[in-house]
Amino acid sequence: MCRMIGSIRTLKQHLFTLKSNPCAYRPKRCPQCGHGGLWGHGMYQRKGDRSLVSENRSVLIPIPRFRCPYCNTTCSRLPGCLSPRRWYPWDAQAIALFLVLRGNQLALIRKLVVASGDTIRRWRAWLAERTETFEFHLRSAFSHLGRYGQGEAFWTATLTTLGLFDAMATVCHQGVSVP
Ligand SMILES: [Zn+2]
Repeated sequence: MCRMIGSIRTLKQHLFTLKSNPCAYRPKRCPQCGHGGLWGHGMYQRKGDRSLVSENRSVLIPIPRFRCPYCNTTCSRLPGCLSPRRWYPWDAQAIALFLVLRGNQLALIRKLVVASGDTIRRWRAWLAERTETFEFHLRSAFSHLGRYGQGEAFWTATLTTLGLFDAMATVCHQGVSVP
């Protein structure tokens, strides 16, 4: 189940879409039982990003929630400008991962990205753990990535030609859970 709407890339666009077309967020099916016909179920406020460069920094962002009339569970969908279960914007994660892959020292990366060493190590472990699934879906969606070997070469090419946001929006759209 895709928890993220990739086409909504900025906070401004998110706030505008919430007002003008809130149905854009409604999932077609319940992630729990698969039935359609979910109801709107209010909003919750999500904290913005922990990054010095993010437009989402230190603001509360309304996120629409939905309830399934069949199994009674609730779910929500995030705009693509927010990263599911992460407090850093996609760009900051992408820079950190790129620098790690290029063999840079963690101390330098921490300063640039303003994230802790543990956080950066977690992002790296997450990418390593899911790399087979992500590579499979990305290679089938973007033929130019077929030229690169597995692991480091693949991700360096992906981060520089696509960016982490577009890569994750693509795999999410194909039904892969992100992160
Ligand atoms: Zn349900």
